[in-house]
Amino acid sequence: MPADHPPLPRGTFRIGRIAGSPVLVSGSWFLIAGLIAVLMAPRVDQVQPGLGGLKYVVGVAFAIALYLAVLLHEASHALVARRFGFTVHSITLHFLGGATSIEGEARRPRQEFWIAVVGPITSIAVGAGALALWFGTPDGLLRLVVEGLAGANLMIGVLNLVPGLPLDGGRVLKAGVWAITGRVHTGTAVAAWTGRGIAVAVGVWALWSSRHGAVVNPLILLVIALFLWSGASQALAVAGVTRQFSDIVATDLARRALTVPDDLPLAEAMRRAREADAGSIVTTTADGSPVGVVDETAARAVPADRAPWIAVSTVARTLEPGLTLPVGISGTELLDTVRSTPASEYVLLEADGRVYGVLSAADLIRAVRR
Ligand SMILES: [Zn+2]
Repeated sequence: MPADHPPLPRGTFRIGRIAGSPVLVSGSWFLIAGLIAVLMAPRVDQVQPGLGGLKYVVGVAFAIALYLAVLLHEASHALVARRFGFTVHSITLHFLGGATSIEGEARRPRQEFWIAVVGPITSIAVGAGALALWFGTPDGLLRLVVEGLAGANLMIGVLNLVPGLPLDGGRVLKAGVWAITGRVHTGTAVAAWTGRGIAVAVGVWALWSSRHGAVVNPLILLVIALFLWSGASQALAVAGVTRQFSDIVATDLARRALTVPDDLPLAEAMRRAREADAGSIVTTTADGSPVGVVDETAARAVPADRAPWIAVSTVARTLEPGLTLPVGISGTELLDTVRSTPASEYVLLEADGRVYGVLSAADLIRAVRR
């Protein structure tokens, strides 16, 4: 399947691309557009009486403008993520706003902070811009729409800064705790539990307003509470899985490697490896820099009487990018790297380019299963 046409998630369709990423709209969006049109109709009637059925068109136009602003918010997340080198799969607009699907996790608190904080900043800037426009717009339907956009964007910006996952503010909090403690899992746990606390508070607010007249519809509050709770719980679950993987350290699994010149006969290379009790053979150029790693299966397939006559390089896989790993790699970063370049062996290199050892995919799979 071509890379730029991945299967669409159920119930969504594609409306175009922004910042290099496909933009998907979930069917639930039409529900919210209809709801906005109905809720706005009385105000439209007040501002411009006698429009008849056309008054709903104003609401739909406002819903479209509002979601274009949400799209700007999501596109800002996508752009910053891309600047840090992440792949952005898609931006989806749904009834509670939008979501940007980014591959992988931030590697540093600074990345997490900027990817998250740029969204609310964008919404607040759009809201402030609409507010400035509002002052110069004469009374009428246009002013009503501009007013709605100013209010909605300022609200989206400020509410998203509430410091609990899955909100952007939760990711800002996560980045802060991560920066202070040096542990990403602590950051996620703190921000996710804060998110759950906020969800409970919103839920209590929903119950309270259902009994004592409501400023905000209790049903909407309940939906928001459930959305926050499930998002925070999901973040906790993901953090639990990544924490398990963080125990997987490449150097723990590495086999001792013997380095040999790549023109050495295979039989001699294998004899030296047995003697040195090395689990793997890395071939080097004349100046000693690693160029290949011997494929165990291929080496064993060579008949014993042929082994003295062929160079070890014939059963070695060339070390293309992705087949060498920095010696300190671990956890999900290790798994992501290995997944992007599947091979049976990887060479672990020290910072100065020396060979530390060889990581076999089979050993890694065994460690993951454990
Ligand atoms: Zn956001």
